[in-house]
Amino acid sequence: MKEWMKNIRQVVPYTPGEQPRGRSVIKLNTNENPYPPSPLVEQARSNIRRFRLYPDPAARKLVDALALHYHLEPEQVFVGVGSDDVLAMSFLTFFNSEKPIFFPDITYSFYDVWADLFRIPYQCQPLDGQFRIRREDYEKPNGGVIFPNPNAPTGVAEDLDFIEDIVRHNQDVVVIVDEAYVDFGAHSALELTRKYENLLIVQTFSKSRSMAGMRIGYAMGSPALIRALNHVKYSFNSYTMNEAAIELGTAALSDQAYFEQTIERIVRTRERSKKELARLGFSFPDSMANFIFATHPRIPAKEIFEAARQEQIYVRYFEKPRIDQYLRITIGTDEEMDTLFQFLQNFTNKN
Ligand SMILES: *Cc1c(COP(=O)(O)O)cnc(C)c1O
Repeated sequence: MKEWMKNIRQVVPYTPGEQPRGRSVIKLNTNENPYPPSPLVEQARSNIRRFRLYPDPAARKLVDALALHYHLEPEQVFVGVGSDDVLAMSFLTFFNSEKPIFFPDITYSFYDVWADLFRIPYQCQPLDGQFRIRREDYEKPNGGVIFPNPNAPTGVAEDLDFIEDIVRHNQDVVVIVDEAYVDFGAHSALELTRKYENLLIVQTFSKSRSMAGMRIGYAMGSPALIRALNHVKYSFNSYTMNEAAIELGTAALSDQAYFEQTIERIVRTRERSKKELARLGFSFPDSMANFIFATHPRIPAKEIFEAARQEQIYVRYFEKPRIDQYLRITIGTDEEMDTLFQFLQNFTNKN
């Protein structure tokens, strides 16, 4: 090994889901929204002309719109380039203890990557046999807590009392609830931020607002937390949000009727999909997200994943302990789901 190589930071990167191109692809592998964003987003595109100048580093327009929407002060809102950026920034800002941070063993697979990158000690807490968080695991001394609600890739949601219980037991550290999927039927813990200054809620425009390509995420919490996040952000990159993200994000937020309509459609398709998957012999934890985490009692998940891929149907498969017999299936349009069920019907009959 060359001398200079010894000091290169070594990380095992996160692996995002495949982004196949082509019109005939049925893409149910990265939890994108199958419907386009609000028509107001399309209209707002013509407002984006300001390319020469730097964007507003504080992204004030979007921050103010989010504050108004959630009945908060602008000092309680932080925005970033997708919630991945917001979460990475939060790890760097808040997880700075010698004690390990806690998160579930089955969860968003970016958490351990950020912990490794920033050299934050961590300890995974195993979910129980029903993929539920065991709250007593989070009552031990730690350097911070993070979990998604609903959890990914399981879709399991916990109620507000459960979350408050975890926050109540962890008032000496920052607790982050990653609510990437909360709009699809779980209860947000945002109201608890009024009571707990150490609670940070992170959400995104990528799933429920159909804007994964625009990269908009945000965090909400006490002014003390938001101030700390901004200090780290301005020590790293002042201009995280570009002009288009600020304009189009604000436009998307203004169309509440469209948002509710789209959510309702996805939830309806999800509930129908649960019945279809059960009929085909699959079992799954009850999902409150825009995906279902399903296993077949007889056919290995990897075989189904590969056969579906041959048919241009993409779902997500994780070759990891405890979940290697599961497929994470994003809820698409009704037509896309019907194509999937037809394929599964044929495949399970043959195998
Ligand atoms: C999708 C997802 C994110 C990140 O989404 P962004 O596109 O970066 O906003 C964060 N957490 C979880 C659990 C997710 O599934």
